[in-house]
Amino acid sequence: MALKEQGKKLRRLMKVLAKGHSVRPIRADMAWLDHLILYLLQYEAPVTVAEKAFRAMQTEFVDWNELRVTRPLDLESFLDDQRVDPSLAPVLKELLQHVFDGDHCVSLDFLRDRDDEAVRRYFHRARRLPAHVGEYMLLAFLGRPQLPLDVHTERVLRRLGFIGKKFSPERVRKTVDALAPTSEAMQYHMLFLEHGKKTCTRDAPRCDRCPLAKDCDFARKASRDGRDSSSGEGGSPEGADPGTGRKGTERRGAQATPAG
Ligand code: SF4
Repeated sequence: MALKEQGKKLRRLMKVLAKGHSVRPIRADMAWLDHLILYLLQYEAPVTVAEKAFRAMQTEFVDWNELRVTRPLDLESFLDDQRVDPSLAPVLKELLQHVFDGDHCVSLDFLRDRDDEAVRRYFHRARRLPAHVGEYMLLAFLGRPQLPLDVHTERVLRRLGFIGKKFSPERVRKTVDALAPTSEAMQYHMLFLEHGKKTCTRDAPRCDRCPLAKDCDFARKASRDGRDSSSGEGGSPEGADPGTGRKGTERRGAQATPAG
């Protein structure tokens, strides 16, 4: 199918997804660091759970610096109490330490004056952060209209058949840029995120209740092979971090590593 036709198909599927998910982008007028912490919570947990956990964090800790120096086990236990995956604790602590190491304050405001590449490199150096965070922050705060290529987006697009198994990271990026309208980048990102968290999950996609199933290569193939699609792809899930095995904030999707 030509790219133009694929773009039309994707727009149609995103409208279907939008009917099932009430996505609301995180407010762009928040401080960058507040926004990013809420986003990371939301990347792991349902939106309402993430928002509640964020408010609880603001009550429990005097400021982000206190959270930075909190014992890892205490933070894990706090997240667990909030029904957020405790494995997010080292990610948050590393982020805050990375920010603090920059100029001994816990704020990302200085990034406002940096160019795009510097912003990407800055987040890329925090090794536990999902690899797309730089792209996300550029979209959310600096109005760069490009769909972040995170593991959910890549997984869903791959299963639907928009991205081929043998595509190089560069070709994945080029294809996604050609298919996703820049004006919809944030809406698409939040929809892929919600769909990837709730339905098209890494290990057990719920094709039987997915509104995209009749247009999905993965579901069609599973049905043709008489296989239960909820078994996922098994073995080596795409985008997984071989080091941590983290599901939500897996590192290193299809992105090329920025220089520097
Ligand atoms: S049908 Fe299954 S594999 Fe396809 S998008 Fe839906 S949940 Fe994912």
